[in-house]
Amino acid sequence: MNHEIIDLAKQFRLSVLHDGTFPIEEQHREYLLRLLQTEAAKREERSLAERLRQARFPAFKNFEEFDTDFQKGVTRKELQLLEKLDWLDALFNLILIGPPGTGKTHIALAVGNKAAREGYRVAFSSMDNLIHILKTREISKKSMGRLGWIKKCDLLIIDELGYLPVSRAEANFFFALVSELHEKASIVITSNKGFDGWAELLGDAVLATALLDRLTHRCQILNFTDESYRLANRKQIFDN
Ligand code: ADP
Ligand code: MG
Repeated sequence: MNHEIIDLAKQFRLSVLHDGTFPIEEQHREYLLRLLQTEAAKREERSLAERLRQARFPAFKNFEEFDTDFQKGVTRKELQLLEKLDWLDALFNLILIGPPGTGKTHIALAVGNKAAREGYRVAFSSMDNLIHILKTREISKKSMGRLGWIKKCDLLIIDELGYLPVSRAEANFFFALVSELHEKASIVITSNKGFDGWAELLGDAVLATALLDRLTHRCQILNFTDESYRLANRKQIFDN
C-alpha cells in the first residue's frame, strides 16, 4: 500500500509525503490511499472532459452501433483492429473513401471517441473548416488557438475532403500542415472522392502526388461501398 501512496504522491508532487518528511503511519494508510485515489480519478475525469471538448466532435458515434452486415467495405475484423488503436501508436493514417451516407464519418467519429477516451489528444474538423483555420491563422486568435491544438494532437480527423473545391494557395497550406504532422501524429481523412479526384481537387498533380506519398506511406485505406445507410433506413412520416 505504501508504494501506491508514494507513487500517487509523486504524481501530485506532494513531496513531503514521498520524501519521508511526513511519515505515513499505519492507521492513516488506508485513508490516505483512498484520498489520493479519489483525487486521481477526479483529475482523470476532468482531463477526459477537456479532451472531448477540445476534439469538437459534431456527434457521438461508437463501434458497437456500426452494422458491418450493411456496410461490406469494412469487415468486423478490420473494425476490431481499428478499435484497438495500436495503429495510432504506430503513427498509421486512415483514409475512408466512399459515397455519401455509407458510414465514413461514423467510423471516423468512433475512432476519435475511443482515442480521446484512451488518453490521446484528438482534433476533428471538416476539410472546409480546416482550410478556414489555416487561411485565417494570422488574423484570428481563434484560428491560431485551434491550430495550436491541432499541431499538438495525436490524431487529426479531417472530414469530407472533396466536397468543395480548394484553391492553389489553400492546397499549399494543407500540404504544409500534413507535412508537419507527418510521422508525429495520425491523420484520418474521409472523402467522397478517390485519389484521382484528389489530384483534380487540389488542382496540382505534383502537389497531390507529394501529399498522397506522405499520407499513404503508412496507411490503411478502406473503400466504403453499397447504398446509403441513411436512405435505406430513412424514417417516413407515413407508414405504407
Ligand atoms: P458518410 O460520412 O459516409 O456520408 P455517415 O457516417 O454520416 O456517412 O452516415 C450517415 C448516417 O448513417 C449516420 O447517422 C451513421 O451513424 C449511419 N450509418 C451509416 N452507416 C452505418 C452502418 N453501417 N451501421 C450503422 N449506422 C450507420
Ligand atoms: Mg460524412
